[in-house]
Amino acid sequence: MAGLLPARPCCQLSELLGIYFGSRGRLLHRGGDGEAAYFSLLRNAVARKVVRLGRAVGHMEAKYQAVKTKKRTTLFIELSLPAGMQNAFKQPAVRAVPEAACDRKALLRGLFLGCGSVNAPSSRYHLEFVAPTQSWAVAIRDLAAEAEVQAGVMERGGQNVVYVKEGDGIVRLLSLMGASRAVMEFENVRVVRSVSGQVNRRLNFETANIGKAIGSGLRQMAAIEKLEVAGRLESLPTALREMARWRAAYPELNLAELADRMKLSKSAVNHRLRRLQHMSANVPPPDHARRSA
Ligand SMILES: [Zn+2]
Repeated sequence: MAGLLPARPCCQLSELLGIYFGSRGRLLHRGGDGEAAYFSLLRNAVARKVVRLGRAVGHMEAKYQAVKTKKRTTLFIELSLPAGMQNAFKQPAVRAVPEAACDRKALLRGLFLGCGSVNAPSSRYHLEFVAPTQSWAVAIRDLAAEAEVQAGVMERGGQNVVYVKEGDGIVRLLSLMGASRAVMEFENVRVVRSVSGQVNRRLNFETANIGKAIGSGLRQMAAIEKLEVAGRLESLPTALREMARWRAAYPELNLAELADRMKLSKSAVNHRLRRLQHMSANVPPPDHARRSA
């Protein structure tokens, strides 16, 4: 989810803004050097994504610095904002939520990367956003509602937390945001739990639904992410690289819809996706790669 960039500039900017607002980014006024968006992030993959999004959206120059403490590493990033783009980073939540469906999805994904988490602790499933402000909490809840996911908002230690506790809702939201790996892990936990003594009708019912919800799109996306992590994506022929980019941007579309958007035949798209999945299956798992390196 943190790896691939969306295909269109509008979506790229929305995702960048989502990470910026979600992680409580700040604007820096640097006198003659203009303004910069300042991020402090805990996850390396998200930090890398910020740098790549900035470059793709507006050739933004990035300065970064990692500060290590005993407990964790914080990554500070300063993105120089082109003059025309500064206002986008100054908006309140009500105006920062874009109109287009593609951008609302990208914004939500960015927000999740900036302030979201998901886990399946022993007692219950839980996905949450620790929203930067109350109005952002409302905006996130409304974006989730558009995907027919019921999210609650609560205050916890002075923070506005948007949460989803229902398993199917969590899967729907993760799928919408293109978090294929998270969906897989979530599914694994559920499956493991269902066979480890806590079996009941409700859980079996949920597990059955999830199999359907994941679908081939997300499996393909997981394959694409695996190729990207292994550094194989960049060296692929253009047609396959484009295919990977499209699938990653639209994991929820079926084959016919995807072919339609790409203005290709269904069989061409099918063929390319199969090739990507085949290549991914031949990539050794990460721990094996580390051992042989
Ligand atoms: Zn867009």
